[in-house]
Amino acid sequence: MSELLRVEGLTAGYGAAPVLREVDLTVPAGTIAAVLGANGAGKTTLLRTLSGLVRPSAGRVLLDGRPLTGVAVEKLVHLGMAHVPEGRGVVAELTVEENLRLGGLWRRDRADANKALAEVYELFEPLAKRRRSAGHQLSGGERQMLALGRALVARPRLLLLDEPSLGLAPKVTAQIMALLRQLRDRTGLTVLLVEQNVRSALSVADTGVVLALGKVVVATSADRLRDDEELRHAYLGF
Ligand code: ATP
Repeated sequence: MSELLRVEGLTAGYGAAPVLREVDLTVPAGTIAAVLGANGAGKTTLLRTLSGLVRPSAGRVLLDGRPLTGVAVEKLVHLGMAHVPEGRGVVAELTVEENLRLGGLWRRDRADANKALAEVYELFEPLAKRRRSAGHQLSGGERQMLALGRALVARPRLLLLDEPSLGLAPKVTAQIMALLRQLRDRTGLTVLLVEQNVRSALSVADTGVVLALGKVVVATSADRLRDDEELRHAYLGF
């Protein structure tokens, strides 16, 4: 399987002391990688660094073999990277359709942007039913679908997804995970999934990376993280 994302020796943070320390990881194309770890381990910082919001002090990121050092944030979107931050960033005053169209505003291929929008409605039925509802009228699950849908309108190759289960009921979380699985299987989407909800993340992931104090302490298959009790006790605390 070809490698879509490669991270080498990535060190980054907000001040003098780095939050991420020499992080290495690889994500094959068409797979879901779960990024796990305790509060403050650096998971969100990893996604923010990958999407160009935090500048690394060392190391590099390669997308499809191409180094991303110095590439502007907006260019990263054009190269196929989409970031759905924690908290979702849905615009409360805009309708579902307007929010979704925001995701494809920059695209020159209008016909394909419209096609991508139709596909999002097909994938997320609740959004199709509520296309004229304002963002603030949506449930938590619908808002998460909208944030995901908006990212998908840009037709990303790599989706960086931060805590999609946050604040959602277990049933809704399971639906979101099933959608991710469907996207991977149908379209070959590659996902880097940050989650506190370890069981949910491992139910859908192919591989798992555990961060502790900004370092990768385990990188293995999701099956092994699920099934190896010793590993789970040592690194995931259950
Ligand atoms: P959580 O699940 O709590 O979001 P996390 O693993 O995603 O945890 P990060 O949010 O990446 O962790 O935070 C890692 C460390 O970086 C923490 O010590 C946090 O206080 C610090 N940090 C995060 N954002 C900032 C910021 N904007 N400025 C300064 N420090 C920050």
